[in-house]
Amino acid sequence: MKIFLPLVKKNFQPKDYSFSGYSIHHRSKFFSLINVSPGPTAIDEEVISKISQELSCDDNSPFLFGNTPLEMSHRSPEFKKILNGVNFKIRSFMEIPNDFEIIWTQGGGHGQFSAIPLNMKKLKRNTFGCYAVTGTWSSRAYEESKKFIKSENINTNYYKNFNYNLQYDSLPEKINVPNDADYLYVCSNETVNGVEYKKNFIEYPKKKDLGQTKLFVDMSSDFLMKKVDWANIDCAFACSSKNMGVAGLNILIIKKEILYGFDEVPTDNNFVPCTLDWKTYYDTNSLYNTPSVFNFYLLNHIMDNYMHNTENIDKMEAYNNEKARLLYDYIDNSSMFHCSISNIKYRSNINIPFIVGDGNENIRNKFLEHCSNHNIVGLRTQTPFSYKSLGLIEPLRISLYNGISIKQVNYIIDVMKHFI
Ligand code: PMP
Repeated sequence: MKIFLPLVKKNFQPKDYSFSGYSIHHRSKFFSLINVSPGPTAIDEEVISKISQELSCDDNSPFLFGNTPLEMSHRSPEFKKILNGVNFKIRSFMEIPNDFEIIWTQGGGHGQFSAIPLNMKKLKRNTFGCYAVTGTWSSRAYEESKKFIKSENINTNYYKNFNYNLQYDSLPEKINVPNDADYLYVCSNETVNGVEYKKNFIEYPKKKDLGQTKLFVDMSSDFLMKKVDWANIDCAFACSSKNMGVAGLNILIIKKEILYGFDEVPTDNNFVPCTLDWKTYYDTNSLYNTPSVFNFYLLNHIMDNYMHNTENIDKMEAYNNEKARLLYDYIDNSSMFHCSISNIKYRSNINIPFIVGDGNENIRNKFLEHCSNHNIVGLRTQTPFSYKSLGLIEPLRISLYNGISIKQVNYIIDVMKHFI
């Protein structure tokens, strides 16, 4: 498959099929498809081509039918080589220091919403967790923690109840964490709401302000996109369905000293389900149960692609910032589109929600159809979060993960410009 991004053709005639606004079906094989979905989402086509070739088991493939990564045992030396390769590449690309361990877990991001309070409670029975709820995902994590431990949302600005998590459009400028909090939980990029903690704008609290309180960060939607100050963090996690390929994996990057704490816990004090138990996965090199072998294989190729194309995380971050700058610049200067997050301090460089026209549903649907006609898909997802029932205008969203190039962003802008 070759990238082919023609300018918008005015007399373009799409194939006739009814379009729901949600479908990711392509309209024309003459245009490359651009998938801006919030996840699972676009993977660089060089990666797809490479794995397709390898899975074909032809003469140039390292596999034969029977030992492809779809059939490979997780106990085989071949798989262990892939796993070690992934760990090595992620550690070096993200500059993760040696006092952190990389653990792979299952259950996606949601698994860690439960695992964090449960494991912290295993370390200390009366654990107290503080959550800076800034949108849909930190809200879910907070709601989950309440099942297991005493926890508190310390960003009470808008927070009323779970249904209102769609209204978040800012970040706390200052977070005051109670002295007795065992941990603070933040989500570095709220994928649904489009707000992001980022350098030179709003950053999450610094270690010096947190004292003994540990910092946990959900990096599901910005991991591998920007530099992380590991000296400030105790534990981070990210699900794989954004910048690490298909869903099914979750990376946990955790300070070794937290893991050593489990050595002090009496063995009869283990109420954590085995699949959520960090110590169990640490002790077994993340192979306590069968991991999603294929995902590691895919991720290995994705990491090669990132490292080859952008060399290091600083360059990746600069490239990603440029993509967001281009799109925000265009939207801010257009009379047709309006960013949902008006204050640039809070805006996400990754997920960009916006309103078409005055929010009128017909105009939005026409725009979706226009994008679909030019093979841009994924702007609208059927979420379980209902804007309508809250009387809110549902924004569309463009997600600019690592799989989207500057060339593609320019094409998207061009298509937007041609919408009348
Ligand atoms: N955190 C964030 C920031 C997310 O964007 C998502 C998924 N969109 C999750 C957590 C949940 O991940 P999963 O669906 O893998 O459980």
